[in-house]
Amino acid sequence: MKTGKLYVLSGPSGVGKGTLREHALKDAPNLRYSISCTTRKPREGETDGVEYRFISREKFTEDIAQGLFLEYAHVHEDYYGTLKADVMNELESGHDVLLEIDVQGALQVKEKMPGAVMIFVAPPSIDVLEHRLRGRGTEAAGSLSVRLSNAMKELALKDEYDYVIVNDDLDAACDELRKIVL
Ligand code: 5GP
Repeated sequence: MKTGKLYVLSGPSGVGKGTLREHALKDAPNLRYSISCTTRKPREGETDGVEYRFISREKFTEDIAQGLFLEYAHVHEDYYGTLKADVMNELESGHDVLLEIDVQGALQVKEKMPGAVMIFVAPPSIDVLEHRLRGRGTEAAGSLSVRLSNAMKELALKDEYDYVIVNDDLDAACDELRKIVL
């Protein structure tokens, strides 16, 4: 059986990666989403095992020591990571896999799996991103400024990616991603 393809989607918090990912998963029937582990607390409406596997710092540290992660990173104020076994099982069974991860993790994947297709989602501007993050209302003021300063650092690394999608118009951005994953 043909091994699946790995797609890595990154971009600053609030840029609309989640929405683009949902559309891509609907459009590409062979595409599977890899659910990450995180030490962040669930937001209202989030369920363990759906958006993330919510685990303790102790468990996360143990999993790092056991080499279970394909990649992991300290993002904003928490740890996030992708389980190697999840991704490999899907790829080996012929499914394509989509990771939605930050740039630090994405660069680890790029090094370990050179065939991965790297996609960066950029905001039309930092002002637009700030506006979107405020509108989302999920972040406290401190966390918002951490996310904005991280956004600048992430944007500086966009040349490491194969594709850059500017999420100005959602339909157009979805269309671009659909073309890449199909
Ligand atoms: P949020 O807390 O808003 O759900 O996610 C924060 C950031 O963590 C996002 O940029 C998201 O892409 C990133 N992220 C989510 N899962 C992973 C993961 O498994 N690994 C890495 N490196 N980053 C992740």
